[in-house]
Parts: sequence; C-alpha cells; structure tokens
Amino acid sequence: MTPSERPLLMIPGPVEISPGVARAHGAAPQSHMSAELTDAFARSLASMRAVWKAGATSQPFVVAGSGTTAMDMVVSNLAEPGTRALAVCTGYFSERIVEMLRRAGADVVEVRAPAGEAPHPDVVRDAVARAGAVDLLVATHVDTSTGVRVDPEPLARLARERGIVSVFDGVCATGGERFEMEAWGADVYLSASQKALGLPPGLGLLVASERALARRAARRGPKPPMVLDWDEWLPVMRAYEARAPKYFATPATCLVAALAVGLGEILENGIDARVALHQRVGRAMRAAWRALGLELVAARPELSADTLSAIWKPVDPQIDVVSPIGAHGVQVAGGLHPEIRARYFRVGHMGYAATEPAMLGRTVRAVGLGLRDCGFACDVDAAVAALIAELSKG
Ligand SMILES: *Cc1c(COP(=O)(O)O)cnc(C)c1O
Repeated sequence: MTPSERPLLMIPGPVEISPGVARAHGAAPQSHMSAELTDAFARSLASMRAVWKAGATSQPFVVAGSGTTAMDMVVSNLAEPGTRALAVCTGYFSERIVEMLRRAGADVVEVRAPAGEAPHPDVVRDAVARAGAVDLLVATHVDTSTGVRVDPEPLARLARERGIVSVFDGVCATGGERFEMEAWGADVYLSASQKALGLPPGLGLLVASERALARRAARRGPKPPMVLDWDEWLPVMRAYEARAPKYFATPATCLVAALAVGLGEILENGIDARVALHQRVGRAMRAAWRALGLELVAARPELSADTLSAIWKPVDPQIDVVSPIGAHGVQVAGGLHPEIRARYFRVGHMGYAATEPAMLGRTVRAVGLGLRDCGFACDVDAAVAALIAELSKG
C-alpha cells in the first residue's frame, strides 16, 4: 500500500515515523562491531543526555526490548528484598511498576488517585514523611491509560531533599514533555523507542544518575538477571561511547541506526523546541476535541498530557468507536484503564506526527466522522478549523 492508502497510526505508540528514521531502520543490518554502528551508538548515547537534559556524569543505557524491559531493568537493579518504595499511582503503568517492585521483594506504599486525577505533590510529601525511611520514589510521567501527566519536578526535588532515589517512567513522555533530569535531580528517567521519541518499537532506553548507579553497586541481595544487569551493560555503553565497541549481548543494530537519526532530528531544533511543539499540538488537539463537543478523561486542564488525548465516548459505552474512526483512515486506540475501559478511547499525537499538521488534521476529521457514524452529532469542519487556528498561533 502507498502511504496515503495505509491507515494513519495515531495510537499512543507505536507511532508514525519520519522518512529519515524509516530509511535508517530499513537499511541492511550492520555488525554490532562496525565503525558505522559504533558511531551511531556513540551519537545516540550523547543525544540521549541532551534529550533527557541529563548531566555529563549520568549514564544512558540502550537495550533491545520495550518500555517494559526498561522498567524491569530499573527495578531489578534498584530494588531487592527489604527495599522501601513509594509509588505515585496514576493508572495502568503505575500498577505495572508496583507489581515489578513487589516481585523484587520491595515493600511498596502506594499513593493513589482515581482515574483522571493525580495525587497533589503535598499529598506525596506527607506520605513520604509518614512512611519514614523510603529508598525509592517512582512515578509515571504521562500515564498512557488516562492521558494524565504528573509534574515530575516537585517529586524529583522532594526525593533529592530526602536522599531518596527517584525513578520516572517517561515511556509516553520522553521527547514530548518537559523533563530536566539534571536540574531537578531526578535519578532515573526511562523510556521506549516507539512513543514520543518517534522510532519503531524495539528499544528500551534509560538514563541513570551516579546516585542510581551507586545504589546498584551497594546491592547486598542477589544480582539482577544477567541481561538486565547494569554491571554487565555499563562497560558496553562506555565502550561504545569511547568508540571501541565491546560485546556482551547483540544490540538491535537496525534500531540503533534509526535511534541515532531520530534523536538527531529531535535535536536539530533542540529539545526545548520539540517540547514546545508538543505543547502547541496538545493545545490544538484539545481545542479540536472541544469543538466536537468531547471531554477528556484528565480531570483538570493542567493534568492533560500533550502527547496523547484520552477522550470520553460521547455515545453508549457498548458502542465501539475505534473501528468506525478507523474506517475513515486513522487508527486510534481503545481504553486501557480497567475501571473505565469501555467508556473512553485514546488518540496519540506525538513524535513525527506532531510535526505534520496534515496528519493531525486527518486525525481530527476521522474522529469526528467516525463518531458521527456512531450517531453523535458534531461539526467536523469547525473542529479542523479550531485545530488549525491553535496550530498557527505559533
Ligand atoms: C507504553 C508504556 C509502557 C510499556 O511500554 P512497552 O514498550 O509497551 O513495554 C510503560 N509505561 C508507559 C507510561 C507507557 O506508555
């Protein structure tokens, strides 16, 4: 199929990728020891520090797998029996990391919010004080099941104040939402290739601070599984950055080649411009949803992520809206949060698609037309006009 026949992929990952990334990904696989791949790996690691706004002494890791692999890597290096963790829970993926922490033997205190809400930083502060000694604080930057964004800054600063190691799941945020790892003193920011970074699926990505690495080094309990152990990968990451490749386990070479290109595209105008673009796109998509007469799952405007929208169905929850929208050429996603699953749907607007107003316009039109086919009266042209008006505000 030609690109115009293919449905547009506007789910919260995987996402549409740029032509440059597609070319790099589609090239013949290289040896993991070749000069070209080594250069791509080295540039990727350096670019990650820039995209993550991480300090020079922080350590990026690139591993084959997905966001869940990155989560497991972090948990298995930082948690062991007896570790005390506090988790800020905003949805499906917060539950996942809590389960991982418990499997690692950690005691976990959860600070929960109903679907569409996020705990206030003061509530987290009180919970930390009540919990007494806490080793790890974990939070999901953007919860992909609700479209809710937490503000990581006060949480990272609180952790730093208290000598707690902070971990943020940025899988649906990194590259599209503001995150300042060094300035805020965050310890781990983990992500995956196929969301706001705009790459194909297949890589887990994370940057760890010196404090986080020191915590791994001070472990007394059993070592992490070998393929997830920072101690195994640290020499490999350092070797690639020194442009002297070293083997431990074969990296996903096609994806690393694509990663170097994709991060390079993000950094062409700088990460701040990329985040500002997603803010503008987030505002424009929300203006379009309002013009259609739709409401978001995120309970308050400041909680709305800019990388995706989770939207209440304006029709009976029994009615599938995803296929009718798909019939207009745009793939969106159903609900994921177990408490509200049937009542909403999700639209991704991150990565390469955020740079292409035509893709955003097609998406708004398809959502409006699809919902109209489900019996919902709405003004599709007004929604597209609202989108364009917001996008052109610059
Ligand atoms: C998608 C996602 C994950 C899981 O990533 P996979 O690549 O599907 O394993 C974890 N956390 C968040 C916030 C996500 O959006």
